[in-house]
Order: sequence, then C-alpha cells, then structure tokens
Amino acid sequence: MQNLESLDLAWSAAKEWLSGLDERPVRAAASLESLRSRLGGPLQSTGAPSREVIEHLLQATKEGLHGSAGGRFFAWVIGGSLQSALAADWLTSAWDQNAALYACSPVASVIEEVAGRWILDLLDLPQDASFAFTTGCQLAHFTCLASARAAVLEKAGWNVNEDGLFGAPKIRVLTSEHRHGSIDRAVRFLGLGNKSIESVAADRNGRMESAALRAALHNAQQPTILVLSAADLNIAAFDPFEEIIPLAQQAGSWVHVDGAFGLFSRASGKFRHLTAGIEQADSWATDAHKWLNVPFDCGIAIVRDRAAHRNAMTISASYIAADSNARDQIDWNPEWSRRARGIPVYAALRELGREGVADLVERTSRHCLRLVTEIGKLPGAQMLWEPRLNQGLVRFLDQRPGATDGDHDRTTDRIVAAVNADGEAFFSTTTWRGLRAMRVSVVNWRTSDRDVERAIAAVKRALARTDSESETVTAD
Ligand SMILES: *Cc1c(COP(=O)(O)O)cnc(C)c1O
Repeated sequence: MQNLESLDLAWSAAKEWLSGLDERPVRAAASLESLRSRLGGPLQSTGAPSREVIEHLLQATKEGLHGSAGGRFFAWVIGGSLQSALAADWLTSAWDQNAALYACSPVASVIEEVAGRWILDLLDLPQDASFAFTTGCQLAHFTCLASARAAVLEKAGWNVNEDGLFGAPKIRVLTSEHRHGSIDRAVRFLGLGNKSIESVAADRNGRMESAALRAALHNAQQPTILVLSAADLNIAAFDPFEEIIPLAQQAGSWVHVDGAFGLFSRASGKFRHLTAGIEQADSWATDAHKWLNVPFDCGIAIVRDRAAHRNAMTISASYIAADSNARDQIDWNPEWSRRARGIPVYAALRELGREGVADLVERTSRHCLRLVTEIGKLPGAQMLWEPRLNQGLVRFLDQRPGATDGDHDRTTDRIVAAVNADGEAFFSTTTWRGLRAMRVSVVNWRTSDRDVERAIAAVKRALARTDSESETVTAD
C-alpha cells in the first residue's frame, strides 16, 4: 500500500478541529502580519515530502481559522457542514472526478441528476425545471440571468447567444432596493451594465411595493427582467410573490428569485406562507452551502424554461461524446471542468430527509428568535428587528444623556467587537435604515440551546465591561 501518511495526518487534524469547536475561541486570533510571515516566503526550488507540507499547514494556520463550522458563529450567513456532507466532500476530492460530462464521471452525473430532482421536490418548484450545481448563489444568478437575457431578447426578435449584445434592444432589470450585491455583479458579468438596474421601492417590512412595481412596468415596453428576493440579508424580508409575479409576467418580464438561504424556508410547513406564489417565477438561485449545511462551495441554479437554460450554457465540441440519455453538466453549468459539488448535497439530503430539513430550518429560526429577544432585553440593548425567520437585528445604546444616533452606532460597533474578541461567540454588524446594528444569523445545524445561552452570556459580559469602563472614564 502506498504511503498515505499525510492523509492520516489531515484526518486526525480534522477530527481534532471538529471536536474542539466547543472549547476553542470562535474568532481567528492570528494577525494578518503573522499569517503572512508564517505562510509566506519565496517559492522553494526543491519540494518537500507531503507529510511535511501538511505539518507546516497545520502549524502555520494555528489561530488563523474562525470557528464558523461551530455553533456560536452568527456572522453573515455561513452555515456549517453536516457530517455526511463533509465526508462525502472528502470522497469527492479523493475520487477526483471531472464532473463536466457523463463520460468523465458517470457517478457524478447520476448523483447530481438525483440530487437536483430532490431539491426541486423539497423546495416544491416545477418538477421538470432544469438545474445546475454552481460554486455559489453568485454563479447561480449568472446562470439564471444568462437564460433570462436570452429569453427576453428572443421575444424582442434578437438572438443574443449568436449575435451578442451590440445593437440589441436594451434590457431593464427591475429589483428591490434591498437586493444583494451579487445581483449587480451578475448583471455586470452579463454585459447589461449596472445602469440597467432600476431599484423598486420597498415598504417598512422590506417587501417590494407592488404599486411601485406596477408603475415601473408601465413605464416602458423594453425587455425586462424582474429580480425578487426570498429573504434579504438583514431581516429576511420576502417580496410578495403571489401579488407581484403575475403582474410582471403579464407585462412579459422574466422573474428571477434570489433565495440564497430563504428558499429553504419552503421545506418547513411553519414558514411555507413566506414563499407563497414563488413557484410561478421563471428562475431561482439558492445555496446549499448556507442553510443545507454542505461544505463550501455549492450554489444551485434552477430554471423553468429548460431550453433557455441549455442554450445559454451548452457547448458542442467534437471530442464531447454525448450520450443523449445521460446528464452532461456542461450543458447546464457555466464551468467546464468542475468538482462534483452535488455529491455532498446528495449526502445531506439523505442524512436529513424532508423532515430533517424542516427541523433544521425551524430549530435555527427558534435559536435566532431567542438570541435576538434575550439580547434585546439586556440593559443597554435594543431589539431593532424581531426575527420572523433566521435573521434579526440588535442595537446597543450609548447610555450617556443626550447621546446621538452616531454615539449609538459607535457603541454598537464597540460592543460587537468586544463580544467577538471575547471568543465565546461571533457576530457581524450591518447598517439598516441608516442605523448600525448587530446582525444575528443562525443557519448552522450545530447551534444548540447551550450555544445560545453561552452567546447571550458573552454579550452580557461585554455590556457590563464597557459599562464599567465608561464609568471609570466619567469618574476621572
Ligand atoms: C449569500 C447570498 C448571496 C451570494 O451567495 P454566494 O453563495 O456567496 O455566492 C446572494 N444573495 C443572498 C441573499 C445571500 O445571502
């Protein structure tokens, strides 16, 4: 047997890393300079045994990793890895299949075919829609919007896949003022330019105003793509799909949905109402690496019009032996050679089942509600947004008389920094309606009641500490 020492080393280090998540500080502590000096230096002319390479990696990365795989990391929308998904991901690397074509990897082709159908079933989207496992929601947007671009231009008598965009009718992209930045970037990648984006106003709950959309739709007869949101980053706001999608489609628009994490709320009966009508859209982009808890990276593009999707992505080259019956991912993906990232999705869905996904969504949302309401009740804290799903906002107030919003903003940033430095929990900040806030996002399957209690205690400590610090300052 070949010497597999470095794999054994990686395996024990991975086990140690995962089993230590509860005790180790959540934040990465190593500074930028120290990471650069430990990991940097010139490229060596001679190599090293693989074991030494892995030993070096383990030494040099010490304290440079965030504990985002653990249960007390609530920053951004990150998620962890289910055990089966992580194990399947390791096998995906070990098998080292090129998942572009059935001919390159029959297993990758069939597993992604099955996993994609399961996703359509789980999310209750059209069962004959096409799909692709992309690197993330960003490339899922790109894939869906490339299909949209071709379809709306075709209706205007223009073949963008053949003739490109020079001389083509201009496309408008209508979308919420609260959209994620990945929409703008996908629009840019597709040559539409960010000036083609028109922001549509949202109401107090972050939902697109249908009256504003109606007005925008009546403004011009140009080819139009409407991008809706199934949970925005700050408060998990869902646009009113039932009302808006038929309006846009009657006007001839293509409707795309950004459901990076929010689309998974459809797996739960409790939250089903949030996405009512979403199945009428033309395309949907989501992530498996967020709420489904597979390792990075994995997004999913879903398109109702299979032909539009295929025509936008497919390639024909003489050496591609097409087996007409099997799935070639190159027909649906924006990549050529690629990792079989659908394999961990397949494993996660097998581990959880339909009920397990529903439970994951409901459990993490319950944890978020508890975190935000209990932190919001601490002296010096204020709940800004009570979670309706898995995202909520808290603000910390400057207790001095006459303190301004700017003072509260600075206090909020300071408290969040103090909590993160403490190492017991990790949160991110955001600006919402002009105010700084601590954003609480819970999507990790590992988060437990105990984690929630530890995180609340950490915030309490940080508040007490800064309180006594400011008293010392005033006493001086
Ligand atoms: C995370 C996120 C994205 C981008 O997804 P990636 O997987 O990071 O490419 C887009 N939209 C929303 C709402 C998100 O939360």
